[in-house]
Amino acid sequence: MGFTYFDHNATTPLDERVLEAMLPFLREQYGNASSRHDMGITARRAIDQAREQVAALVNVRPPQVVFTSGGTEANNLFIKGAAEILKPSQIAVSAIEHPCVARPAEALARKGWAVRKLAVTRDGQVDLIDVGAALQARTGIVSVMTANNETGVIQPVAEIAARARTAKAWMHTDAVQALGKIVVDFEALNVHAMTLSAHKIYGPKGAGALIVDKRIELAPLLAGGGHEHGLRSGTENVPAIVGFGAAAELAASRLEAFSARVGKLRASVEQGLVQQGAVIFGDRAARVPNTSYFAFEGIDGETLIIELDKLGFGVAAGAACSSTNPEPSATLLAMSVTPEIARGAVRFSLGTANTAAEVDAFLMALRQVVVRLKNLTAMTV
Ligand code: PLP
Repeated sequence: MGFTYFDHNATTPLDERVLEAMLPFLREQYGNASSRHDMGITARRAIDQAREQVAALVNVRPPQVVFTSGGTEANNLFIKGAAEILKPSQIAVSAIEHPCVARPAEALARKGWAVRKLAVTRDGQVDLIDVGAALQARTGIVSVMTANNETGVIQPVAEIAARARTAKAWMHTDAVQALGKIVVDFEALNVHAMTLSAHKIYGPKGAGALIVDKRIELAPLLAGGGHEHGLRSGTENVPAIVGFGAAAELAASRLEAFSARVGKLRASVEQGLVQQGAVIFGDRAARVPNTSYFAFEGIDGETLIIELDKLGFGVAAGAACSSTNPEPSATLLAMSVTPEIARGAVRFSLGTANTAAEVDAFLMALRQVVVRLKNLTAMTV
């Protein structure tokens, strides 16, 4: 039996073209980009090219791209790096941020910052009225993700950024789950900083970037040789950065086709889900086109994913990073979903290689599992 992967929000496979671009830098071109000889220069040029490719994808100038080890590091770099420079005031982050934004923000409480969580509506979007209320207090940092990793709901980042700027706060967005799925334009979003990750766009794991408006100053997390304009010391991971660049170029070139294709597939998945009696979270708001987050009342999400896994389908319960955590999804609770329903949550996320036949097979398997689990529940009640 084969395995069909529907968990692309957790990670994506490395695209063959990305691997091809990386291979020379894993084999013969192993130079240190700081070396002055030929091999060093080759490595430096490859990094420069990747910087241009990543910059082009999000509409910034190449010097604004600071390469990091991934999204987690970029989010930490912004929040801790900004807090180091600014005098303590309020940090406002949405109630549905990934833990790598939520945790560093919460940790600032120990440094004298007031930590404010921004409410979301039942549809899964940050509530602009609550943003207005929060910004009544003196605020140094605002961070709201571009699209949520669980629901896929696109957030009103530009609107929040306008309010943050009026309040003289620095505005950051974690665009990890939006990149490659919708247009992500740093200028249009009007933010001061933005987080990206390579492995969600068919690039390698362990590569990402913080995009920074040059008018703000951040303190680095790591002190050392002063790489990446002093913001991220450490010998550059050349193959991973090259892979990130290649993945960024690929993402830009296929964005429209990808979004149209997976959008159609998701529509057929959701039609099937609704027919089978599922509730779909966030479906009244604009979402990235590949994601569907659903639950069947009375059926535990964890049980559902285990049963689907046995039948050869890979989906996720809640956020991948918290899959060992039995608590219901904080994102769903923030959307006022009851804990009973939230415990049933399953995330289905499509990728470039998924087909209509795979979606049909998934819906058939799901029907089988849901009917069996419902009968079991009926017998035990
Ligand atoms: N931000 C969001 C919204 C994510 O979904 C993830 C990964 O799951 C990250 C950040 C972390 O990125 P990375 O895995 O590159 O550290």
